[in-house]
Amino acid sequence: MITRRHPLVPPSPGTVREIVSLHYGPPDTGRKVAIQASLHADEVPGLLVAHHLRGRLAALEARGALRAEVVLVPFANPIGLSQRVLQAVEGRFDLTSGENFNRRYADLVPRACELLLPQLGRGAAPTVDAVRVALRQACAELPAATELESLRRTLLGLAVDAEVVLDLHCDNEAVLHLYTTPELWPDVEPLARLMSARVVLVADGSGDEPFDEACSLVWPRIAAELTTRLGRTVTLPPACTAVTVELRGEADVRHELAAADAERILEYLAVRGLIAGAPESLPPLECEPTPLAGSIPVEAPHGGVLVWIAELGATVRRGQPLVEVVDPASGAVTVLSSPADGVLYARDSRRFVLAGTRICKVAGREPVRSGRLLSD
Ligand SMILES: [Zn+2]
Repeated sequence: MITRRHPLVPPSPGTVREIVSLHYGPPDTGRKVAIQASLHADEVPGLLVAHHLRGRLAALEARGALRAEVVLVPFANPIGLSQRVLQAVEGRFDLTSGENFNRRYADLVPRACELLLPQLGRGAAPTVDAVRVALRQACAELPAATELESLRRTLLGLAVDAEVVLDLHCDNEAVLHLYTTPELWPDVEPLARLMSARVVLVADGSGDEPFDEACSLVWPRIAAELTTRLGRTVTLPPACTAVTVELRGEADVRHELAAADAERILEYLAVRGLIAGAPESLPPLECEPTPLAGSIPVEAPHGGVLVWIAELGATVRRGQPLVEVVDPASGAVTVLSSPADGVLYARDSRRFVLAGTRICKVAGREPVRSGRLLSD
């Protein structure tokens, strides 16, 4: 294992933070996996999964079982980890800019195409390796004036040339769920089975350039851009399976869960041929993918105390009561019902909320939203 340290742009004299990446396995096979934990720094389950992964990866490396380089970033967001507001961790938004740490990853497509075009005379198609070289260079050239920009450039540079990218997050209170693109679903299905995902949310671009999409969608977007520029059809495989893995809720931090999650992730890599010893069979699929545009948030119409009626993870019907909002001033009780048939997959962990708070999400089958699909 090789440890690499990536200093970020110092925000002020005398301070410097760094991202640490741990590199396991052979670096020269042309195959690479990138796994990062807790880009939203207050989403702690991923940190513990990474802790278990490093021990298991070291053991696999020692017995020569790794067939690819596995890059593990055990804490992806040292900025967020150190942010405190009135004693609470603020790990989702950068306090300096107000930006969400998992949005606005750079569009590498224009520069990568510029680099690829001179290589594409007389009907030639770019190889996957050539595209990866171009992506690495395009990422390395990104400007990074601020600490946040250097964090984004560093993380993208560690992952954008990988064939599997797993970005470990969690929700407030949630069942395990995944985000990916519809095109990648066949490649993601074994992971959904192994991790017993209850919901898989798919979108062809959710609108705010989260990390996983910055890694996966460059492939179809480069093919489309080259097709336009060359005036002939250029096809590329979906060469990066990038998934945001939502490891349940913020408080679901236990060794037995994290160790099992780490093991399932390694089994997935084995299914992909990236580690020796694939499992002989996979567990059953617990859900079919549903559109991210069909995930419907439920808002509190007034402030009050939340009293849940429906269990987390419940399969619910449209109109089924989910939660009471009790107004302590008026004594009014509002019962909020499910907006669709689907799965109640995520809830707010607070039990007193303000008017307008999104207090839960139901994954329905029909797309009903458009535009920016992710929450702030
Ligand atoms: Zn997150």
